[in-house]
Formats: sequence, structure tokens, C-alpha cells
Amino acid sequence: MTPRTLWHATAAPVAGFPALKGAEEADLLVIGGGFAGLSTALHAAEAGQSVVLLEAERIAHGASGRNAGFVVPNFAKVDPDGIRALLGERAEPLIRMAAGSGDLVFDLIQRHGMSCDAAQVGWIQPSHSIAAFAKAKERVRQWGDLGRPVELLDAQGVTLLTGVEGWRGGWIDRSGGVINPVGYARGLARAGAAAGVRVFEGSPVLGLEKVGADWVARTLAGQVRAPKVVMATNAYVGALWPGLARSFFPLRVFQVATRPLPLAVRSRLLPGGQAVSDTRRNLFTFRFDAQNRLISGGMHILSLGAGARVPRVIHRRLAQFLSLPDLPPLEFAWSGMASVMPDFLPRLVELAPGLVAGFACNGRGIALTTAMGRELADWALGKPLADLAIPLRKAEELPFHALSRMAPNVLLPISMIRDRLESR
Ligand SMILES: Cc1cc2nc3c(=O)[nH]c(=O)nc-3n(C[C@H](O)[C@H](O)[C@H](O)COP(=O)(O)OP(=O)(O)OC[C@H]3O[C@@H](n4cnc5c(N)ncnc54)[C@H](O)[C@@H]3O)c2cc1C
Repeated sequence: MTPRTLWHATAAPVAGFPALKGAEEADLLVIGGGFAGLSTALHAAEAGQSVVLLEAERIAHGASGRNAGFVVPNFAKVDPDGIRALLGERAEPLIRMAAGSGDLVFDLIQRHGMSCDAAQVGWIQPSHSIAAFAKAKERVRQWGDLGRPVELLDAQGVTLLTGVEGWRGGWIDRSGGVINPVGYARGLARAGAAAGVRVFEGSPVLGLEKVGADWVARTLAGQVRAPKVVMATNAYVGALWPGLARSFFPLRVFQVATRPLPLAVRSRLLPGGQAVSDTRRNLFTFRFDAQNRLISGGMHILSLGAGARVPRVIHRRLAQFLSLPDLPPLEFAWSGMASVMPDFLPRLVELAPGLVAGFACNGRGIALTTAMGRELADWALGKPLADLAIPLRKAEELPFHALSRMAPNVLLPISMIRDRLESR
């Protein structure tokens, strides 16, 4: 079933891929047709591996088709110095991977001629408080030291770029930008298929078992045998591998898109078309799509009735923050599941020899899962897992998972109060 998102409705239509019937063999099996799986498959096939990719539904069914399309080449909570403190000498490859991840996305789009309304115009993070602006200075110093195209903005500079007043300043990374994520995922799938990836949709893996040196994945009408398997199932993993769903926090995130704004209003806001996410704990985000629809997102506190209630709240917040009393009504509202790690960093989990799961979501997944895919392709080609840029962790269930998965919603009201106090 195709999710009813703005992106599915507006991306160029595609023919789709068949369901798996019969038996296939490959060097690498990838499970999951989101950015992580598609990038892994494309990079492995380009390097000469024979690859099969199985997607349970359609390409971009999961978070990859439901996000905001912000390409953000950094981590949500930690900067290079923090990564160095956490990982020591293992830090530099991960830092370099993130720093170049925006360029990687836009280079792939250009190289393969993907039709996805891509614009590498930058990602802006306005500061909601004095303390957040002090942190912005640090962020610019640390990412700037790596040669990234970053720039500190004073309050006037943020207003000039966004058309919005009230922030204390902020910063921009010009290697970020915006895409139609469904167009991008379909572009990755087509590029993968052109490089030889055998892509199957409507083919959920129902079971995985070790047979000799290989893994055998079973679907309703077929099976795939391969010595190496990447599980790129993210928060949509279900019960496929025992315990994996309890190794991250699943987070439901809502997105909305208004009807197109009149040109006179549109031209006052965000003339450069960047992606904006500010520093509030209860994040305020906005961007436009190619038809001048205004897009924003948010989370819920109570799950009951959230599907109808949260989009209305986001719409009100957009109108208030952007001083748009006549904001056009919503045309699209949808939600998706993201996976969040306790340290907000990407991670690889070796579930068994030859079987790896990769998570690089944490709300920064477009750039980071694409970069993770290139790393996982290196593993498929023989590089040891421990030598990849992304930290390798044991498959461990998070303690008190059932309780802690509620944490984001419990913390949201507290965050909202703290945001308000800090921004005075
Ligand atoms: C609402 C929302 C907004 C977001 N906004 C942004 C943003 O603006 N910028 C950003 O960088 N990141 C954003 N993110 C995060 C980003 O979307 C994700 O990090 C990224 O899409 C994850 O990609 P993935 O390939 O790991 O997983 P997914 O895209 O979730 O793909 C997993 C796939 O695995 C498939 N699957 C599961 N089980 C099986 C099985 N048994 N057999 C076969 N297939 C299976 C699923 O059908 C699914 O297609 C957002 C996330 C959400 C939910």
C-alpha cells in the first residue's frame, strides 16, 4: 500500500519492481528498500557485487518516504569534539563520513540524473536562546575546522535568509539542502537496478536461517541465498529478528504540507529555499516544496487521536511562528516511524556472522543512511566491520525499553516549558 504523503503524491511515477518468485543467489542480500538499503545495494553493485534487494511493500514505504526531505550533514546532538571524546581514535572516520554526507547525496542525485527536486542550498539552524547561539558559534568552529561550508549568522542574518524575526542568531551549512525523498529513493532504486541490483517489491522476508556458510531468506513465493545480509529495516523491522526492535527507541513523527502559498507571501519567506530546523527541544522546522507548499513537522504527547490532532497543532504553530494569519489549510498530513539511539549516533549491529543491521536515523537519516550504505557496501566487499566508519555495537536490548519508548512523549511537555523559558 502506498502511504498518502506529499512526496508519494508529487514524485514522478515509476513502473515499480516485481515480487520475488523462485530462488535467487547473490553475494549480498539487502532487506529493506529505504535509503540505507538502496544505498548499500547501489554501492555494492557498482563495486561489482551481485546483489538482491527485498522490500516488503514498495520502495520508500518506511521513513524514507515519510520524512521532511531535509538533507542535514551532521549529528543531532553531538559535534566533532564530542565524538572524539566518546570514540577516541575511532572518531575521525565517523566525523568525516557525516561531514561529507550532504555532498554524497547531491553527487549521487546529479551523477544518476535523479528527478527529485533536489537543491543543495543549505540547512539553517536558528538559535532560540542566547545559550543556543553560543553553541552555534562552537558548531561553526568545529565543522568549519573540517573545511565545511558553514557560516555563523547573527539575528539579522537569520531574518534575512528566513524572513522570520525573533531568533537570536544561528548558522548555516551550505552543503545541506532539500529533496523530494520519494523521488530520491526511487532514483536510488533505478540507479541500483541499472548497476545490476535485482530489486523485488511486495516481498517481505518472513524468515532468515543459516544454511552452511550462507543465509537463506524466505518470502511468500521465493527465497534468496547469500553469504552476507544487510538488514536495513530501521524502525519497520517488526519481529523479523528477535530483540532487534527493542534495541532502539521507535519515534512517531508527524509531517504536514499546506496548500501552495500565494506568490506574494511565498517570496517574503525563505527566498533561498533552504531547510530550517531551530534549536528548540520541541523542534520547529519548515521548508517549501517545488510548488510552494509549506512543510513542517512535530511529535505527539498522547497517541490517542494524534493522527487528527497533531497536524492541526503543527498548522497553528506554523501560522504563529511565521506570522501568517491567513496560512492556507493543510493539503497533506502523514506520519512515520524513526529509530532513535540513546546516544543519537549511527550504529551497526552484528546480529550473527554475515548478518548486520544498520541504523543511522536519529532524524538525520537522509544524509547519514546514504553514507552508511556506502560503508556497508565496503563490508560486503570484504572490509572488516570493525574498520567501518560507524561504531559496531553488540545487539543489546535497551533496558526498560517498554517504558523508555514512551520517554519522548513524556519529555515533550517539559521540553516545551524549557524552550519557552530559555527563549525569553
Ligand atoms: C516523519 C519523519 C521525518 C523525518 N525527517 C527527516 C528529515 O527531514 N531529514 C533527515 O535526514 N531524516 C529525517 N527523518 C529520518 C529519515 O527519514 C530516516 O533516517 C531514513 O529514512 C531511514 O532510512 P532506512 O532505509 O534506514 O529505513 P526506512 O526508510 O524506514 O526503510 C526500512 C524499510 O524496510 C522495509 N522492511 C521492513 N521489514 C521488512 C522485511 N521483513 N522484509 C523486507 N522489507 C522490510 C520497510 O518496508 C521499509 O521500506 C525523518 C523520519 C521521519 C519518520
